[in-house]
Amino acid sequence: MAHNFDVIIIGGGILGTSISYFLSFLNKSKKIAVVEQAHSVAFHTSGRNTGKVHAPYLYNPEKKKLFAKAAFHGFGMWEEYAKLRDLPFKKDGVIEVALDKKGIKVLEKYLKWGKQNGLGNKDIELMDKTELKKIEPEINCEAALYVYRDGSVDYSTFTRSIMKDSKQNGTKFLLDTKVTKIKKENDRWTITLNNEHKIFAKFLINAAGGEAVDIAHNAGVAEKVTDVHFRGEYWKVPKEYSNLTKTSVYSVPEFPDYPFLDPHWIIRVDGSCEIGPNAVPVFSPYGYNKTENIKEFIPKVLEMLGSGARKAIFDKQFQQLAMNEIQSSMSKSAMIDRVKRFLPKIDADKITEKGTAGIRSSVIDENGKFVPDVILVDDETSFHVLNYNSPGATGALPFSAHIVKHLNKTGLFNSEDLNVQCGPWKFNEIIENLQE
Ligand SMILES: Cc1cc2nc3c(=O)[nH]c(=O)nc-3n(C[C@H](O)[C@H](O)[C@H](O)COP(=O)(O)OP(=O)(O)OC[C@H]3O[C@@H](n4cnc5c(N)ncnc54)[C@H](O)[C@@H]3O)c2cc1C
Repeated sequence: MAHNFDVIIIGGGILGTSISYFLSFLNKSKKIAVVEQAHSVAFHTSGRNTGKVHAPYLYNPEKKKLFAKAAFHGFGMWEEYAKLRDLPFKKDGVIEVALDKKGIKVLEKYLKWGKQNGLGNKDIELMDKTELKKIEPEINCEAALYVYRDGSVDYSTFTRSIMKDSKQNGTKFLLDTKVTKIKKENDRWTITLNNEHKIFAKFLINAAGGEAVDIAHNAGVAEKVTDVHFRGEYWKVPKEYSNLTKTSVYSVPEFPDYPFLDPHWIIRVDGSCEIGPNAVPVFSPYGYNKTENIKEFIPKVLEMLGSGARKAIFDKQFQQLAMNEIQSSMSKSAMIDRVKRFLPKIDADKITEKGTAGIRSSVIDENGKFVPDVILVDDETSFHVLNYNSPGATGALPFSAHIVKHLNKTGLFNSEDLNVQCGPWKFNEIIENLQE
């Protein structure tokens, strides 16, 4: 194995893999590697999500402008990429329901945000309950937002395909390889892999998902923030419910100030149906089971007590939310009941099989507040992406192009010509779309 690299990307999730993709087109002469501890790319959050290509109606254009734009353009880019590589992409839409008068106000706000974020009149429509009943007779609600420009995919397949393209341009993927230590020495990074080998890099990109905050701290940046991990669990629904609705259904979240939604009714790209995810606090970004959570319990609690997360833990509303979520993890019917509010036909007794859980890591600032947006941290020889949460998979391609453009601007790669063809897209056109 070569030991010296120009750029090392930590994390082979959808973000790190997509960053490598654009870098590989723009910097063909550079030696680039992605280091991923799992056996395959997208093994963690990127392959354990709801699989929706989200229309950007949930995001305040003032507070999450770049994220919303990335989601808007991500839809078109994934659709195009799916066609190019013959991967499944279903434009199947989504319905967001309001269960009370307060919820209708929220839908009106979402409609406005959706349009501000680029959706047209044909992409999104507010309906009263009678109109919706004609289309979806099994759904009970007060009003609904029908979002036609929303899709379903399998992000693991997409990430594996992007990896293949990136590899063809020369990127190395070091799989089954964990970065166990990073140290800056003599203007370059010494990176220890699996506690054994050392490799060296001029520049480090941290796209490590649930470990991104720890790696940033090890690099000496973003020391004031910490993160809290939430496990999103799913239940698989038997085939007899497959035709209950034509479309996936979300409900207006009960606690909109927190960075997760209530469990949804999901129709996946292969037509199977699931209920989820909830958001159960856990102690590790890989806390899928008890063993891992017990192992990480003491270090994580000590870390939280010594940071802004302490204030969040003692916040009454957060405690109530955490209790709801823990209850919906311990009791299947507590979780199913949250969806039964708008799909009363479902019988929890018929649902017996769990789906694949995924974990999101939300960043908390020093005041104990959840940070709503992604955090990008520039350092002289490293770049860190923290809090890259939903709809991160949707926006991964344009967002990665944005990061690569930013790194180029800071003088790292000095590619003068950005009119480069990257697969089906011109790099500078992606950037122009994001700036509009
Ligand atoms: C339950 C749930 C549902 C979601 N649903 C959707 C959805 O429907 N649509 C959507 O757009 N978004 C969704 N999201 C959000 C989306 O999945 C994430 O924003 C996205 O996957 C984040 O990608 P990532 O590459 O940053 O992180 P990850 O996929 O977590 O990748 C980070 C990688 O870094 C690796 N890594 C970390 N530390 C090290 C180390 N020290 N050495 C080597 N490797 C390391 C990890 O193994 C991991 O593979 C959902 C998220 C969750 C949790």
